[in-house]
Amino acid sequence: MMSELNPNFVYDDIDREVWQSELDAFVPTDVFDFHGHVYLARFAPSKTGPSRNPSQPRVVDEYPHEAFAGVESRIWPGRRVKALVFSTVAADLDLEAGNAYAAEGARTNGWHALMVPSMTDDADTILGKVRAGGFLGLKPYYTFVTNKPPAEVTLEDMVTPAMREAADRGRLIVMTHIPRPGRLADPVNIRGIRRLCRDAPNAKIILAHFGRSYFPEAVGDGLSLHDIPNLYPELSMVQDWEVIEAVLNHFDRKRILFGLDLPVAQEKGKLIGINGQRHFFTKRPHTWSAHVEPGSYEVKCTLFAYEMVRALKKASERARLSRAEIADIFFHNAQRAVDDVLRQEGEPR
Ligand SMILES: [Zn+2]
Repeated sequence: MMSELNPNFVYDDIDREVWQSELDAFVPTDVFDFHGHVYLARFAPSKTGPSRNPSQPRVVDEYPHEAFAGVESRIWPGRRVKALVFSTVAADLDLEAGNAYAAEGARTNGWHALMVPSMTDDADTILGKVRAGGFLGLKPYYTFVTNKPPAEVTLEDMVTPAMREAADRGRLIVMTHIPRPGRLADPVNIRGIRRLCRDAPNAKIILAHFGRSYFPEAVGDGLSLHDIPNLYPELSMVQDWEVIEAVLNHFDRKRILFGLDLPVAQEKGKLIGINGQRHFFTKRPHTWSAHVEPGSYEVKCTLFAYEMVRALKKASERARLSRAEIADIFFHNAQRAVDDVLRQEGEPR
């Protein structure tokens, strides 16, 4: 049944071996995947067909929440798993349908959801939709900014003043995937993150993919952000132990969050930096990835998801994390953030 829903997901002997020999003893009993997408193809027609854009790698046309749940239970044998999910973020997304589906996925599976907000709604409207849908916060994205070229979009453009006000008043979670080719090393992004955290001091600002720092050169002055009390580094898709070790050594370990970024995380291969540029190496050929011609030699890869855990394991060993700190990063930090939002919902503001 799972294979019909998710025909491209393969869990093979290599994955089993990596799990048993390297990861099983490291991964705690509870896992909170703080970054995942669920959506149906009809919500965003542009998501079907081949993608050539490596900033939005496409591994599936749609990702029903049943497929998401199936992958989580397969890759974490014997673990209790929770997730924070949201829709895809294609520019042509039907916001209402995409958000309703993410909320339904969360309700059905005991997860939580974020809402992709409209660029034009005012703060009251955004808060009203968040409450009505049972969302914990917002997932803004740079693709929804249409009045300038994508490479010039700033964090302030993509998280509108209304979104900031709603997030602050509602004490919401805001999942920010920073824009711009320079990634975290771009000073415009560093200023934008500080501005956002200052404008919405009561919100929890999540720095997704640790500011898209998939290799050490992308970090720049990003470690200086450790002094911001409402900023949460999130590690999804980061498969570089050096980057993770730096995060572990500089940021409050009670605010670091684990996540995968399904569906792309179910792909086999590795995300690597070469000469200061991000590349996907994948076992399957894609227009957005480097791969080996079928037949030239046998490619033995495991899942991106497992490469993330491998990197976190090595970084945790080097930074001498305690078992309790590892359990915090995999689960308790996320659960505490979620509980904070849920608790404040009942209070007047
Ligand atoms: Zn994502």
